[in-house]
Amino acid sequence: MSATPFDGHSISAETAAFLARRHKLLIANEWVDGTGEMATCDPATGLEIARFAIGGAAEIDKAVAAARAAFRGSWRKMTVADRTAILFRLARIMEANARLLTELDIVDNGMPAFIAGLTTANCVEMVDYYAGAVMRIEGTTIAPPRHIAAETEALTYTLREPVGVAGLIVPWNVPLSTAILKLAPALAAGCTVVMKPSEETPLSVLALGDMIVEAGFPAGVVNIVNGLGAEAGQALAEHSHVDKVSFTGSTVTGKKIVQAALGNLKKVSLELGGKSPVVVMPDADLALAVPGVALATWFLQGQNCMAGTRIFVHESIHDALIEGLKGFAAMMQLGHGLDPATQQGPMISDGHAAKVMRYIEAGKAEGATLVCGGEKLDRAGNFISPAIFTNCTPDMSIVREEIFGPVMAVQTFATLDLDEIADMANDTPYGLSGSVWTRDLSTAHRLVSRIRAGQVSINCHGAVGTNIPFGGFGQSGWGREFGQEGLDAYLETKAVTARL
Ligand code: NAD
Repeated sequence: MSATPFDGHSISAETAAFLARRHKLLIANEWVDGTGEMATCDPATGLEIARFAIGGAAEIDKAVAAARAAFRGSWRKMTVADRTAILFRLARIMEANARLLTELDIVDNGMPAFIAGLTTANCVEMVDYYAGAVMRIEGTTIAPPRHIAAETEALTYTLREPVGVAGLIVPWNVPLSTAILKLAPALAAGCTVVMKPSEETPLSVLALGDMIVEAGFPAGVVNIVNGLGAEAGQALAEHSHVDKVSFTGSTVTGKKIVQAALGNLKKVSLELGGKSPVVVMPDADLALAVPGVALATWFLQGQNCMAGTRIFVHESIHDALIEGLKGFAAMMQLGHGLDPATQQGPMISDGHAAKVMRYIEAGKAEGATLVCGGEKLDRAGNFISPAIFTNCTPDMSIVREEIFGPVMAVQTFATLDLDEIADMANDTPYGLSGSVWTRDLSTAHRLVSRIRAGQVSINCHGAVGTNIPFGGFGQSGWGREFGQEGLDAYLETKAVTARL
């Protein structure tokens, strides 16, 4: 299957020029060579689009030293007004370069243009949001301790101080967004950072590196070291001069991060995998539920941590829902992300597509019914048509494990007892997201209160927003990102008491 670059679609001159560049590591505001090089491909064609430098432990060490120096020096000394201004400046530069950032995520990750455009806009919004939060970082005054107050007048207050040097390790599924949702609050809090993008999708974060330099961040505040997870990622998570690591990725890697962080007991935030439930009650409005449930699973080709892939539908409307979903699947346009008509792109890599196909085969072998889809298209790139499995049971691997592909596993229920329904929904080690589809507000809120997940939506799914905390229960992670809690994750509280 031969492919043409970008499947015949055109990219802007600036994106073409960026792809043609030599891509290095950003350490102390200098673009420097690494120890080796990797290629990155357009997953919709399989063709190489750029090569980039990678580093290992030595480069991480240099980047951490630069971040430490900036943390002690230039960044710490900068006034909050200046820190605010520089973040706003970054947002404006990103806005001016939105097309470049968007096209890079499309060609590096394969996501459809409408999603990439949305995530770029959200990234700009997020930098603005945290820029605005810098001046609202506040402590409190509290009553001094009894043994001091008994002797003298005293004053006790708290300071909110940056954690220090933060290591930011990001995945490939929404490359710019997962980087910015760590970077913006870390910088707003006053931390300095070393960022390790995914080796599958290095490009948009490298372009961001240029914008960081242009915005005028002092040297060492932001460092970017691409590399393999087991090398650069591991070195960053282990580093004794890194005070905090914030990781987004798989639960398996998350556990390795926790182990690596033990040496200096650095603070750890984890945004991990999911296998989120979607509960469709008998009174659900199918006009809403059909597209809502379809996109709960298939949005971002299922390569989405919030994906609602375990569908629980009341038996009375099972057939109507499945008919609707089949119709929706048939209308989904698979193609290159640069084609504005594309609704679903390719899997990120050959290896990942093979893993998704193994799950589809396992679903068939374990006795689930493949109603539609689940086929690898006979064309370049790893396109898998949206799949619906019915007759699923709780023990099946397609029900238990995160597939990270366009695979929906449907189970039915006959009861109206909300505790029983919630028990089915909660039968998972994960707890990232979920949704409930019903016209009955009382049922909706009572069911939401029983579902163990960090984000549960009613008659919609995956309702993330810059100001809305996001994170997991159970093995979906530790801590929250976005909103005020996302900023708190990069702050320490210091209590100060003074005899007066
Ligand atoms: P991954 O765990 O394979 O890799 C994530 C990052 O960790 C990459 O940068 C990788 O290089 C690095 N890494 C790998 N091994 C490492 C190690 N030993 N030490 C340090 N770093 C290491 O995940 P992925 O395949 O890139 O992303 C998909 C996963 O991410 C899915 O499980 C998905 O659910 C999860 N995810 C979660 C969220 C969320 O917010 N909860 C968001 C997006 C993706």
